[in-house]
Amino acid sequence: MAKVNEDVIIAGGGIGGLAAALGLAETGRTSVVLERAPEFGEVGAGLQLAPNGTAILERLGVMEEISKFAVFPKRLVILDAITGKELTSLDLQEAFKQKYGHPYIVMHRADLHTVLYEACVKKGNIRLMTNSEVEKVEDLEDGARVYLTNGTVYEANAVIGADGIHSKTRKLVSDDQPVCSQYVAYRGTIPMEEITETAGTDPDDVLMWIGPNLHLVQYPVRRGELYNQVVVFKSFKYKPGAEDWKANDWGTPEEMDERFKDTCSHVKHAISFISRKFRWAMWDRNPIDNWTKGHVTLLGDAAHPMLQYMAQGAIQALEDVAQLTNMLHKYGDDYKTAFAEYQKERIPRASKVQTNARNWGEMLHATDPITIMLRNDIFSRRDKYDTTYVDWLYSKRYEEPAFID
Ligand SMILES: Cc1cc2nc3c(=O)[nH]c(=O)nc-3n(C[C@H](O)[C@H](O)[C@H](O)COP(=O)(O)OP(=O)(O)OC[C@H]3O[C@@H](n4cnc5c(N)ncnc54)[C@H](O)[C@@H]3O)c2cc1C
Repeated sequence: MAKVNEDVIIAGGGIGGLAAALGLAETGRTSVVLERAPEFGEVGAGLQLAPNGTAILERLGVMEEISKFAVFPKRLVILDAITGKELTSLDLQEAFKQKYGHPYIVMHRADLHTVLYEACVKKGNIRLMTNSEVEKVEDLEDGARVYLTNGTVYEANAVIGADGIHSKTRKLVSDDQPVCSQYVAYRGTIPMEEITETAGTDPDDVLMWIGPNLHLVQYPVRRGELYNQVVVFKSFKYKPGAEDWKANDWGTPEEMDERFKDTCSHVKHAISFISRKFRWAMWDRNPIDNWTKGHVTLLGDAAHPMLQYMAQGAIQALEDVAQLTNMLHKYGDDYKTAFAEYQKERIPRASKVQTNARNWGEMLHATDPITIMLRNDIFSRRDKYDTTYVDWLYSKRYEEPAFID
């Protein structure tokens, strides 16, 4: 067994884990990030980051670098995947930026991860270790212990579990299981030249095409050089108890074709560019009322995995980092109190986002004609500057303590 030289061990080097290391560095603490993969990196394509997320990236000192890769969309647009008609939009330009003080951006998730990784390397007080899979975490009287699958055992003053939806750290506080949504995603990027423009929209807009049991999201990433596409649909073939989609072969490309057969020509054209090789089943978990045991706490998808329909999973991980950092500033070496106070603020909000994400999915994928009619009617009455439905989400700030430069 080895006590690491660092103050805190972070399990998992995704967006949440790396951002947490930067937050700890802000408090003057050292940390070691244990990543199970042979390299640090991100799988998947695009990421939308609303002002409640970009505000925290600014605080972590990475927003200038991120702006070199990001796209600043003009509008979020919701369209009917069947008729092709625009249903509603949210303007993201000057009035929006002034209201929230921070921009709405879209970017390649690998670019965000790289910027965070490089910021960690530059700090000098963050150690980044690969091939380090955490098997088990224990709380101790005066710290915490981590067991790796390679037999190594480490101890530190505290452990933060940022090890994703299948978190091993979470087992310390809950024996719950992920919940299968029956939805599947196919995603990837294509060269910008391959896209067909949609009348009335700008190539920089975020487009969400919605229909019964399905949606398609499109937006540019990497300074507008690539176009991100995510195709999502509910499987016909899924049966309760057959959650292992690889073994039970649900969510197949043939099902995708069947689901999208009545969509408009733009959506069908977009789908013809989607890689059919890989698919991701969509899981979340029910909210839980405790993320912490003594000197161990959870963050990001390990704490509150959610469906992606509000584009908030990574942002909520960043909100965790901001609040955790504030509590570590406030309570010094008293990790137990800092973690307890952190979750007191964060659990209600993250749980609300988790639950709302499910509800948004129901609304976007509605099948009942009356619900669709009412939804579309409400959408059509909205002004593009109206932020009523998103204000609670985008306006939240975890202000850094006044004594920070
Ligand atoms: C299709 C889709 C679209 C999305 N779009 C958005 C969006 O637009 N905006 C947004 O904010 N969010 C979005 N999300 C959600 C977002 O991707 C996640 O919420 C976010 O990546 C979670 O980050 P994390 O660091 O908590 O977890 P993860 O990204 O899962 O990272 C966990 C890390 O821990 C490592 N790890 C796992 N287990 C162990 C272990 N035992 N030991 C050591 N290391 C381990 C993993 O290899 C990984 O590197 C989307 C999700 C999906 C599926």
